[in-house]
Amino acid sequence: IHEQKSFQEARDQLKESQAALNALVSIYEEKEPSKSEGKLAGVPVVLKDNINTKGHLTTASSKILENYVPVYDATIVKKLKEAGASIVAKASMDELGMGGTNRNALTGPVHNPYDLDRISGGSSGGCAVVVASGIVPLSIGTDTGDSIRKPAAYTGVVGVKPTYGRISRYGIIPYASSLDTVGYFTTNVADAALALEVLAGRDDHDMTSSYEEVLEYSQLLNADLEGKRIGIFKTVNEEVKDPIIKAGFEQLEEKLRAKGAILVEKRMPEQYMNLIAPVYRTIANAEATANHSNLDGIRFGRRENGESVDAVMTNSRTAGFSSYVRARFVIGSYSLFEENQDKLFRKAQKIRRLLVRAYADLFKDIDGLLAIAAPTLAPKIKESSDLRFQEASFAEDHMQLGNFSGYPSMTLPLGFEDGLPFAVNLTCRPFEEETMFDLADGIE
Ligand code: GLN
Repeated sequence: IHEQKSFQEARDQLKESQAALNALVSIYEEKEPSKSEGKLAGVPVVLKDNINTKGHLTTASSKILENYVPVYDATIVKKLKEAGASIVAKASMDELGMGGTNRNALTGPVHNPYDLDRISGGSSGGCAVVVASGIVPLSIGTDTGDSIRKPAAYTGVVGVKPTYGRISRYGIIPYASSLDTVGYFTTNVADAALALEVLAGRDDHDMTSSYEEVLEYSQLLNADLEGKRIGIFKTVNEEVKDPIIKAGFEQLEEKLRAKGAILVEKRMPEQYMNLIAPVYRTIANAEATANHSNLDGIRFGRRENGESVDAVMTNSRTAGFSSYVRARFVIGSYSLFEENQDKLFRKAQKIRRLLVRAYADLFKDIDGLLAIAAPTLAPKIKESSDLRFQEASFAEDHMQLGNFSGYPSMTLPLGFEDGLPFAVNLTCRPFEEETMFDLADGIE
């Protein structure tokens, strides 16, 4: 990690940034003990507030967890400390990970450092902006549907969602378990490669974590694109309207050809692309509803009074979740309802499988797939909405294919329009992060 900064320096800069960015839920006053040597020795790190930190407030930006102090560290927190990093703050997010704007956070919206009137994107928005503004070199978030890669695109940083199962999720407040992936933000590809070495690996506390070998990615980096076959996801790019973003991507294509890469056009039927959003919504909301049934005010978190146990739960959940999250629980419950399960939840799972098969086909003869990450610049806070159920184009949601399939996927800065960043998305076959970082190094 280049650009070293002390814990105190980072802490003070984070405090100072709050007035403008509002990126944080809590800041650590004191440095906690961590190893003095290691791959991340002395590196100040910010964590999304859905990552359990022993003795430190962990709210997931939800009122129902506003006073929740975990009694244990998530596995990745232990790993970071063992590698010498120090945790310096917990970052704002869309409540429980639900949202793509970071407007839906208990502490209010996070602001984009390139234009404070614009969203950071979400749900890992706080994490994105503390790296984008150069305060910390590394922040850890989660990506269920694009929650790292979209904010990375809006704020001009590198955002990585590794393969599903690469990084332990033990101690992470879940959203949708079949999609949730731990990932992170950095300012460059080399740091991104190093971070995975530290974070990845099997954890017996998380049965979905993989035994797949973790490599020394930062030592293996090879930016040589000669003969590399790179898919260009035409279906997505053709759907993008912004001429400057399109031109930026075409310039990248030129650059890649000049470096000896072979570009291969890739398409997926639009009927399939249009299924991404409804399938995602059905699965994510159903799994979220099940996962969050433990947030009842009884076991932990904020409790409201009531005449009976049922009333305590109802009152706690009514007061503890925003109406937006409650709306999602209604959708989730509806599709899990016994009468509806076959025609909604199970059907969505079947279509997911179909989409993953079609997606896998695209990767048969390529090393990686490139697409425009987000079709627009970061929207204005006033104009953005998460309740855009009908009108959104699949160019907004295509990165969710990376969660359906579990494939490693990352966002890389591509250019600027009117001073605002836009980005490219790179996805590779499962557990081929080494290839992903090589290609990213060549693109960067
Ligand atoms: N915007 C998507 C949602 O609202 C993705 C969020 C995420 O990846 N956590 O669910």
